[in-house]
Amino acid sequence: MVEKRQPIAVKEAIERVIKRVAQLEKEAVPLEEAYGRILAEPVRASHHVPPFDRSPYDGFAVRSVDTKGASGESRLSFRVIDHIGAGVVSSHTIGAGEAVRIMTGAPLPDGADAVVMLEQAVITGDMFTIRKPFDPLENVSLMGEDAQEGEVIVEAGTFIQPGVTAVLATFGYTEVRVAKKPVVGLLATGTELVDVHEPLEPGKIRNSNGPMIAAQLARMGIQCRLLGSLPDDEDACFDLVKKAVEECDAVITTGGVSVGDFDFLPAVYARLGADVLFNKVQMRPGSVTTVAHVKNTFLFGLSGNPSACFVGFELFVRPALLAMMGSGKPYLPYEKAVLEADFAKPNPFNRFIRAVYTSAPSGAVARPAGFNKSNSVTSIARGNAFIVLPGGTRGFRKGDEVDVLIIGSEEGAESWELN
Ligand code: AMP
Ligand code: MG
Repeated sequence: MVEKRQPIAVKEAIERVIKRVAQLEKEAVPLEEAYGRILAEPVRASHHVPPFDRSPYDGFAVRSVDTKGASGESRLSFRVIDHIGAGVVSSHTIGAGEAVRIMTGAPLPDGADAVVMLEQAVITGDMFTIRKPFDPLENVSLMGEDAQEGEVIVEAGTFIQPGVTAVLATFGYTEVRVAKKPVVGLLATGTELVDVHEPLEPGKIRNSNGPMIAAQLARMGIQCRLLGSLPDDEDACFDLVKKAVEECDAVITTGGVSVGDFDFLPAVYARLGADVLFNKVQMRPGSVTTVAHVKNTFLFGLSGNPSACFVGFELFVRPALLAMMGSGKPYLPYEKAVLEADFAKPNPFNRFIRAVYTSAPSGAVARPAGFNKSNSVTSIARGNAFIVLPGGTRGFRKGDEVDVLIIGSEEGAESWELN
């Protein structure tokens, strides 16, 4: 008799996975290698930024009191007593009617409290005139205006994007403490699979899920151990997965997880004594997605159907791996968008449609990315998002507002908001 599985809600499934997550250890990496990692400690400003009052323009540093009364009819004149570029400190103190020619980024000389931009001055020799008064601190970049010493600039758990790298460099971090990357094993199962470089034969298809998942991991900065591809053979799968469990934080398999005659992953989980968190989810595609846990290792059993495999990875594997690394934003970010095309099919389960999402000033729009079956590979290539249609709804029409999950973004969401 075919086993009857109890489908659980997507949200519940994600929660079950996240609850099992154990944090990975931390390590220090050189700043140049920190891009894409997850910060293990907050970044605190070790000094004010800027560290001194400075000129944001090329111009002349003056005393604002000396500029009072300047106008087009009665221009005021200044004498230039020094000339400094960025990185140089003037040894002069500015007196009445004096100015220092100063370039962007140079510290304001003593006595000065305003900067006349070059464009605001009429220059003759070592003199210039102005036609307007300047307020105290006008055109001055103030010490600490960007960051105050001691302030937390970036929280632990943040993805290190280039801006975070800039902040780390500003404060002299030559090394950065980050979460270790998870060790992930990847195995494709299916007697029908041939490798990418092999010719097709009758009844065979190329293993596209393996390279796809490796690329999904690469997008997260994670390299995987390629465990290869196996035919549908219970003992062979068991042996390989058992060994992988000892070495990996997560083992991803594709295929063989359903209730077919040659789907041996459920038996493998049983023989491993793994705790199966769920083996059926109220979602399309990918309802057979299974997640199990044994000896602190996750077993992600993704469907062999390419679209279902892709969705299963983004919905369950990605947040679990990010949470292991202590990410504060492990979930796919989501947006609202207006449907650009009718979607007539009813939705007994939540539907995650591979979609093209476009944000525009007139409002974001989304449309299905093409052939929309769980076995489609082309729609994954064409899409950059999932349109999410809630379970228990009928068809949707062009113009309806829908939720969209954005794929491939450096940004994440703190929580999973969708049901
Ligand atoms: P399964 O999940 O094993 O029942 O496979 C479901 C469908 O996905 C079948 O049509 C398989 O041929 C196909 N499939 C399984 N594994 C892969 C793979 N690695 N790459 C592409 N298609 C696959
Ligand atoms: Mg199969």
